[in-house]
Amino acid sequence: MNRAEDLQVADRTVLVRADLNVPLDTDGGHSITDDGRIRASLPTIRDLLARGAGVIVCAHLGRPKGDDYPARAAGGPSLRPVAHRLAELLGQPVTLAGDVAGESARVIAATMGAGEVALLENVRFEPAETSKDDEERGELAARLAALADLYVGDGFGAMHRKHASVYDTPPLLPHAAGQLVLAEVAVLRQLTTNPARPYVVVLGGAKVSDKLAVIGNLARLADRLLIAGGMAYTFLAAQGHRIGDSMFQADQVGQVTTVLADAAEAGVELVLPVDHVVADRLSADAEPEIVNGPDIPDGKMGLDIGPATRDLFARKLADAKTVFWNGPPGVFEFPAFAAGTRAVAEAISAVTGLTVVGGGDSAAAVRHLNLPADAFTRISTGGGASLEYLEGRELPGLAALEDAT
Ligand code: ADP
Ligand code: MG
Repeated sequence: MNRAEDLQVADRTVLVRADLNVPLDTDGGHSITDDGRIRASLPTIRDLLARGAGVIVCAHLGRPKGDDYPARAAGGPSLRPVAHRLAELLGQPVTLAGDVAGESARVIAATMGAGEVALLENVRFEPAETSKDDEERGELAARLAALADLYVGDGFGAMHRKHASVYDTPPLLPHAAGQLVLAEVAVLRQLTTNPARPYVVVLGGAKVSDKLAVIGNLARLADRLLIAGGMAYTFLAAQGHRIGDSMFQADQVGQVTTVLADAAEAGVELVLPVDHVVADRLSADAEPEIVNGPDIPDGKMGLDIGPATRDLFARKLADAKTVFWNGPPGVFEFPAFAAGTRAVAEAISAVTGLTVVGGGDSAAAVRHLNLPADAFTRISTGGGASLEYLEGRELPGLAALEDAT
């Protein structure tokens, strides 16, 4: 794979596909609650600028709704707050185009000078970005490619998407991988090839269905799997425990049962919660209550792991040499149910060895805990992309960058 740092970029315009998909405040919709992904995109952009390139950044934000460009652009979200924050972090102006690859973007690209930065509007305003139709995506890719001389893929969090700006644009220009993508891939490769042992994987988060494929693959690689969060209740139910009103995916019980059997056969230790913090509803002001033992009474839902589980997980992590963690073990957004997430983060940060946190919500959660900067080897920017890599699937965006031009 070509490296962006090896491209000759002086006086050329470089289209950088970045991942700037940051969480926005839900009430105002304008303030960025965690700018980690913008910060992670800076090294590549700064390097290109310092070497005399004009940089056009392309990124998506959220999931714009509507059948056509005008409807999506009207509904938002616009990348305007991101342009503002990017300018602050770079310490130089960032011109926000009024469109993705239309008249405004063309004028900006044509008049741009060395060392200048522009940001295209939310690429998902273009329905073709995510289209299943190769020709539709190809037409958008051609308009994007026409804006620049070179393409740099640095949006790791979108690499698992066969989208126009990720998959169809690189073949149209000389292309290379940015620093973020190279760093993410290097770490994920360490997790999948000869990881130092014991290798402990901690999985939490909301839906078991999102993560079953990766659990299957990790159950073959890891020595221990610690399962918590909303997904744990489907496992507990599959083992015959009572789970009250906890998050439950009945249609996944069959597959979960298979994972449990496979793990047992492979000699992988699968650890589930042994106690819980429950409440009668999912709400910030719900009254937390500890339930000893794995069973949850009717009328209550499990919202965090209990104190015995926190200790158990810490013991299972204590001798680890490699840790991958995806998915918060509790509803960390509500302080009453955040203790489990904090305990797991602290236990992992005490591990000496390779420790990787992946997942959008997980990364945001640990950044909010204000642990020391070196608490983890890496806080990955990729959620789905990291998981698909660990599942052993080829990432379309990476494959497109690997092909030579
Ligand atoms: P990531 O983005 O890190 O991959 P997910 O998106 O899978 O993580 O899950 C994050 C969400 O899981 C959080 O919003 C958190 O509130 C939720 N969650 C964690 N534990 C529970 C639980 N016991 N019940 C319901 N939701 C939970
Ligand atoms: Mg998430």
